[in-house]
Amino acid sequence: MAQETFEFQAQARQLLNLVVNSIYSNKEIFLRELLSNASDALDKLRLEVLQHSELEADTSDLHITLERDAQARTLKVIDNGIGMNRQDLQDLIGTIARSGTAEFLQQATENKSQAQALIGQFGVGFYSVFMVAQRVVIETRKLGEKEAYRWESAGDGSYTIEEIPEHAQGTTITLYLKEADEENELADYTQEWVLRDLVKRYSDFISYPIRMLVTKRETEPAAEEGQEPKTVERQELETLNSMKALWARPESEVDPQEYKDFYKRIAYDWQDPMQTITLKGEGTFEFQALLFIPAKAPYDLYMPEQKRGVQLYVKRVFIMDDCQELVPSYLRFLRGVVDSSDLSLNVSREILQKDRQIRAINKSIVRKVLGVFKSLLKDKPEEYREFWAEYGKVLKEGLYNDSTQRERLLDLLLVASTKGAELTTLEDYVARMVEGQEDIYYITGENRSVLEKAPQMEAFRAKGVEVLLLSDPIDSLWVEMVPEFKGKKLKSILRSGLELGSESEKKAAEEKLDQESKDLASTLAWLGSALKEEVKEVKVTNRLTDSPACLVSSEHDPSPSMEKIMKAMGQAFPPVKRILEINPEHPLIKRLHQLQSQEGEKGELEDIARLLYDQALLAEGGELPDPSSFAARLSKVLGKALG
Ligand code: ADP
Repeated sequence: MAQETFEFQAQARQLLNLVVNSIYSNKEIFLRELLSNASDALDKLRLEVLQHSELEADTSDLHITLERDAQARTLKVIDNGIGMNRQDLQDLIGTIARSGTAEFLQQATENKSQAQALIGQFGVGFYSVFMVAQRVVIETRKLGEKEAYRWESAGDGSYTIEEIPEHAQGTTITLYLKEADEENELADYTQEWVLRDLVKRYSDFISYPIRMLVTKRETEPAAEEGQEPKTVERQELETLNSMKALWARPESEVDPQEYKDFYKRIAYDWQDPMQTITLKGEGTFEFQALLFIPAKAPYDLYMPEQKRGVQLYVKRVFIMDDCQELVPSYLRFLRGVVDSSDLSLNVSREILQKDRQIRAINKSIVRKVLGVFKSLLKDKPEEYREFWAEYGKVLKEGLYNDSTQRERLLDLLLVASTKGAELTTLEDYVARMVEGQEDIYYITGENRSVLEKAPQMEAFRAKGVEVLLLSDPIDSLWVEMVPEFKGKKLKSILRSGLELGSESEKKAAEEKLDQESKDLASTLAWLGSALKEEVKEVKVTNRLTDSPACLVSSEHDPSPSMEKIMKAMGQAFPPVKRILEINPEHPLIKRLHQLQSQEGEKGELEDIARLLYDQALLAEGGELPDPSSFAARLSKVLGKALG
């Protein structure tokens, strides 16, 4: 069949453009990408053949070969893996199906200086060849098929595909290299030592041999006496990589740099990981895990399609990327590898969901990883704070969706408090509790500075009782699910029925409140009916020192911030009425009571009642349902005050 020309899909074209013109300094990663694709192709072949014994393919010598030609300035990467057919070449090489591509392209084009970091993180895969080559040819034949194809492109907008008479099963990729240019960090990729170096650095753990003809110099003893010994050069095929899976080697034998390099390869990161965690399961279920915490949260951490990033291997055979079943979603920032020796190679995602062993692995990963976090908190609190800044929000998700780990997650929690600018652990909070304090107090809302000044905070401030300031949206969710920490109840100061102090103080306060309720009975009743649309009850309180009134929720009602989140998530939520608590000591309340008790026109006082409610809502950072009538009412009352 004749040669056909195709256009790269629009996104692929954009990406290519970005790659070809990029200032990305790490051009050498192209080889890592090609070798990893070749290794994947060998994995796929091995898996296919294991699963479909009827397929005929020779898997006895799976390998990758590098062929270099300094004169022609070409480099070939050859594998005897699964190969590609015409459709694959179009679908896999000509298009990009990776999720997040649109976001990536947008971010990278908008912010050129960030593009480099983004290319590293996103991983441009095969297209990275166009950083070093002006023209690329792929020749390939797929497992079980007769036709072989040749694909060619110069990395501009198009590529060609044509059928070729023959090719061994597998793929040959030929790079027509650009001139070496040290200034632009373009090494000479036809040099033996350059390639040897790159393979060692990036691809040493690939489990198939990567072979290359290398020059060996040997000294031959002199043929005759009196003559100098001769140095001869011989070409010899050498395996460049050690092929040992890093996770299978004892930690003591691995150079920390090897872990870092491995991490960078699998996580497409250009930075070292924050932590490396190795784990081995023995006994009933055998597995090995090598996990990493990236230094910076992956850019797609909060996107619905975010990858879990842990790869599953079975007996060194790659099974799948992004194995969600291995780690819970609140640890989705982990990257790494789990290799299990007992699973079948045929596992599918459906099987994994029900698999007992996968659940056991998941559990031990969680236990181990949370343990690592705990030691970090204890031994290197500064580093832990950095970790928390990146991942704290995600970890908090575990507080409401994994009740089995709640205790351990609570130990790891860092939250803001009225104590100071630094975040605190619950344990430290408890250690600082004042004499007679039995509960842990918190306030939820949107913004720390508003929370600090909320009227509900007044009595706590007056008594020197510390309050946790929970201003992450997710805080309002988990805190409802966590009744206590180490025997201390967590109590929202936005709820009714809060009394501070010792038993005798509480009793005295109660008696005082009873008396005041009686004294103000008529005003309480009047306010209750004037505000019956807004609140469910009006009560006196001793929680205020400066403000005339505040709003609180009944003990079992959802908090306003929770209500807001549920609504934002599109959940139907019936409006929840709250309780208006008034401060009997406040001059405004005293005067209101006086006026209200007198005979006469009470209509005007209704405006004051509404303003009392509105200002309580504003003071805690709430939103007025009807700001314009609030403004009108305020002008009316101010006008009257000014005569
Ligand atoms: P990624 O490897 O991240 O999927 P690439 O751009 O590197 O993206 O490669 C795209 C796809 O092309 C691969 O997923 C694979 O299916 C196919 N491919 C690339 N190289 C080879 C190869 N040597 N043999 C078989 N298939 C390959």
